[in-house]
Amino acid sequence: MEMAIHSYSRRLFNSLFCGFLHLHRSHYHHGRSKRQLLSRLFQPMNIREDRMVGAGRSSELTCKSQRLMLQAGLIQPANTGCFYYLPYTVRAMEKLIRVIDEEMQSIGGQKLNMPSLTSASLWKISERWDLLGKELFRLKDRHNMEYCLSPTHEEAVTELIAMQGSLSYKQLPLMLYQVTRKFRDEPKPRFGLLRGREFYMKDMYTFDVSESAAKETYNLVSNAYSRIFDRLGLQFVKVQADTGSIGGKMSHEFQLPAEIGEDRLLMCSDCHFAANVETMKDVETNCPQCHGKLIESKGIEVGHMFYLGTKYSYIFGASYSNTENKPIVAEMGCFGLGVTRILAASIEILSTEDDIRWPSLLAPYQVCIISPKKGSKEELITGLSETLYDTLMDAAPQLRGELLLDDRSHLTIGKRLKDANRLGYPYVVIAGKRILEDPPVFEVSCQNNGKTLFLTQEGVLDFLRNVQIA
Ligand code: ATP
Ligand code: MG
Repeated sequence: MEMAIHSYSRRLFNSLFCGFLHLHRSHYHHGRSKRQLLSRLFQPMNIREDRMVGAGRSSELTCKSQRLMLQAGLIQPANTGCFYYLPYTVRAMEKLIRVIDEEMQSIGGQKLNMPSLTSASLWKISERWDLLGKELFRLKDRHNMEYCLSPTHEEAVTELIAMQGSLSYKQLPLMLYQVTRKFRDEPKPRFGLLRGREFYMKDMYTFDVSESAAKETYNLVSNAYSRIFDRLGLQFVKVQADTGSIGGKMSHEFQLPAEIGEDRLLMCSDCHFAANVETMKDVETNCPQCHGKLIESKGIEVGHMFYLGTKYSYIFGASYSNTENKPIVAEMGCFGLGVTRILAASIEILSTEDDIRWPSLLAPYQVCIISPKKGSKEELITGLSETLYDTLMDAAPQLRGELLLDDRSHLTIGKRLKDANRLGYPYVVIAGKRILEDPPVFEVSCQNNGKTLFLTQEGVLDFLRNVQIA
């Protein structure tokens, strides 16, 4: 028996190994990592309209980001307000989540993950089972118990803390967050990822010893949010906002000014006052703080923070024991960031009508190398773009995994450059006419400043080695 397995595994090994050798020749570099070839990427761009259900038919395309993301093969519509996030989008989203993780953890946030399926009993305690009405996706299990697909997690996280008995004051502030799918049966799902029925949110929940400590935490998270948008290079406004169905005593939104935005904002031209029109009793023309002139603009809400006080901790019994070992109800805050909405909003704001532009940190790949066209004179100098790719992996370790080789050599360089511009790689390196020179010269087009550089291989390595993507 053992022998049989042995000889079988040997055969298996041999066949795998030969297979590997074959791959080695075509895609591998030093047997270490695979070259990423554009021809192999799953990036469907020819949608069959007859197969589309729900939102997303071109006749229903409603905004620039949705159109560009569909055209470039970044998303595909599924059913109303639900999308397939395709590989480019997932890469960008993972990068965004990395930035969010860094900023949340730098202020002490701890990442966890809560169930999406939450019991109706929790929502009945907070009285939001009825309050949220049709927005909740409700369902029943086989035992006829009621659940919903969570639109947010104040109830769940407060119950989690209450289950621990009492926290110690030494554990506070406690800042828990997650990045998960949220479900909301929106009355008007539209604008692609800007308003879906299933979307990703980063939600943080904080527990503090007192109102003043909770307000300090509130400011800490607010500053972390500002750093996130600064790092993405997105101009934002922080506005006073309504507390809506979440409740609580104080609330601010992070808004990205954009024509497509569904929120109306009023900003003072003289002081820092800024508010969502929803919060104002009467829409005034002068600033309530300094009487300066108020300017109206539209915005996309990308983040929302609430100082909750004890609204949830009191009803669920989430408490901590103080220095005298007395149980005290914890003070809470909650802080949402629309992860998929930020992706779409940044495309909406930065892109031209034809070409996607990303915050450079989020570009799915940083560098695209375009090889010569099949049958061209340039192609006779074989392997120049592959060599450049392979040497870049060593010369610029920060770009590992960020290089893409557009090997569709049956297409002209012009056509592939157009595609590259549409996808928005920060750097496109072209093995064009001038690689016939001695030494060969590559063309590097830089998206952030629109400049084109002509560089030898050494020059390209030197240039890209210094590219920062953190
Ligand atoms: P809106 O007013 O746009 O409906 P909201 O106030 O209901 O949003 P919150 O409950 O504050 O949203 O959720 C936190 C964040 O989640 C929002 O600031 C937004 O960025 C994001 N978000 C909310 N609803 C959606 C949605 N339907 N699709 C995508 N992102 C969303
Ligand atoms: Mg909100």
